[in-house]
Amino acid sequence: MAGIPPALKNPEIKYTKIFINNEWVDSKDGSTFETCNPSTEEKNADVAEGKAADIDAAVQAAKAAFKPGSAWRKMDASDRGRLLYKMADLMERDAQYLASLECLDSGRLYAHALLGDIPACIKVFRYFAGWADKYHGKTIPFDGDYFCYTKHEPVGVCGAIIPWNVPIAMFTWKTAACLSMGNVLVLKPAENTPLTALYLASLMKEAGFPPGVLNVVPGYGKTAGHALSHHMEVDKIAFTGSGMTGRLIQKASADSNLKRVSLELGGKSPNIVFSDADVDEAVSLANTAVFTHNGQICCAGTRTFVQEDIYDEFVRKSVEKAKSLPSGDPSEITTVHGPLISKIQEDRVLGLLKSGVEEGAKVMCGGKKMEGKNGFYIEPTVFTDLRDDMRVSKEEIFGPVQQIYKFKDVDEVIERANNTRYGLAAAVITKDIDKVMAITNALQSGIVWVNCYFPLSPGAAFGGFKESGIGRDMSEYALSQYTEVKTVIMKIPGSGAKI
Ligand code: NAD
Repeated sequence: MAGIPPALKNPEIKYTKIFINNEWVDSKDGSTFETCNPSTEEKNADVAEGKAADIDAAVQAAKAAFKPGSAWRKMDASDRGRLLYKMADLMERDAQYLASLECLDSGRLYAHALLGDIPACIKVFRYFAGWADKYHGKTIPFDGDYFCYTKHEPVGVCGAIIPWNVPIAMFTWKTAACLSMGNVLVLKPAENTPLTALYLASLMKEAGFPPGVLNVVPGYGKTAGHALSHHMEVDKIAFTGSGMTGRLIQKASADSNLKRVSLELGGKSPNIVFSDADVDEAVSLANTAVFTHNGQICCAGTRTFVQEDIYDEFVRKSVEKAKSLPSGDPSEITTVHGPLISKIQEDRVLGLLKSGVEEGAKVMCGGKKMEGKNGFYIEPTVFTDLRDDMRVSKEEIFGPVQQIYKFKDVDEVIERANNTRYGLAAAVITKDIDKVMAITNALQSGIVWVNCYFPLSPGAAFGGFKESGIGRDMSEYALSQYTEVKTVIMKIPGSGAKI
């Protein structure tokens, strides 16, 4: 990684207010909340705390921007695309600053944000910029003397509620498809990580999006998130976060105006290693699948299934690898293992580690908070001697914890891999094409990686089977979630068709 610009030390925090109508405003009742740097526990900023009244103001601004005849509604689709291209260019310009701010705000490794997340998000904006004038309807062979066609129209006022784990990526996934289809949006970032969303909002304004098209209201889930998901004038809500909150969002839709709901929820993804694999490569891939961002990734490959002939060697090498991860300040380029997001998350992960031990799992390394460090650091942990019915086997840990299970054959591993409420991602590592086909066909999972883990692309759909969610982010499939189909049936003049 030689030659990459270092993280900015103490990047300036430029925006801490609510963003409505392209203006920065205080919350209506003047309240603020504090955010902190997860690697030091020091305060980052006091951020305006949006509540129901602020959400309503943002929704009214979005509604006005969506009125027929508004600048946004009159804008050519190709020009909407140009604004998204411009947004991508601005992110490219400010990549070092954005990556430094993301690191400060969320504990994300600076190097991952700079070299991974931000270039990927730039591509997502460009991908959906291209779609702005290409997602069109059809002409339909209609019985009788009629002309029939479909139009794809924006849904209207959308809401987005996003989590803290990869905030720039989540902001991008929720805004790019939505705005490319001509919708307007009110976005609520997670309370732990509002800073990059607010800065990105400033870039949207600079790119030329008209007032009210994008509004960002920081605040808590129970107040701001609740108000957004229950709002009677929000037509669609897109959510990424925990399954528990996903259920509340779905219920809020039923309790309010039946707004459209798309959900990206958690996972407990299996990563299946057959004994014909190169063990060193498989150990390395499995390590990346679990420990990237300390396991705080919804599609992390936490359940590592290893075929029995190579199991002992695989475990030994996995433990060596987990112990060797350089831990420290996430803004340093050499750091691989950074902090968890918060004390709440740290306590959650430690609680699950305790439950694993109590239920009989064996800690091969790690298993506790790192000594002598500020920040929310937990040691990279490897569990063996697991049963599939343990809490750590069933629940999403969202921490640096690898579970290694032994299996005999294809049928057994398929059944165990699918024995989960989740279905977000999965992977198989083998040189045998028959095994690849068996696994990719049988797994109930939104994504299956073969001999790789984590590659994503804007054109490839992301989302889950079962309780991992409803709908898809990214790709052409996301567009249908941000459009309504209107069918128009016209009498052909002079045809004699009955009215
Ligand atoms: P969370 O569900 O508590 O919070 C996510 C967002 O929902 C936050 O913005 C929060 O303020 C908001 N929220 C909380 N309660 C709410 C309510 N009652 N009404 C409306 N909004 C509310 O999740 P978290 O603990 O912050 O994030 C971690 C979880 O997110 C993990 O379980 C992880 O798997 C999941 N996640 C999934 C994906 C994915 O793409 N599938 C991506 C990232 C994280």
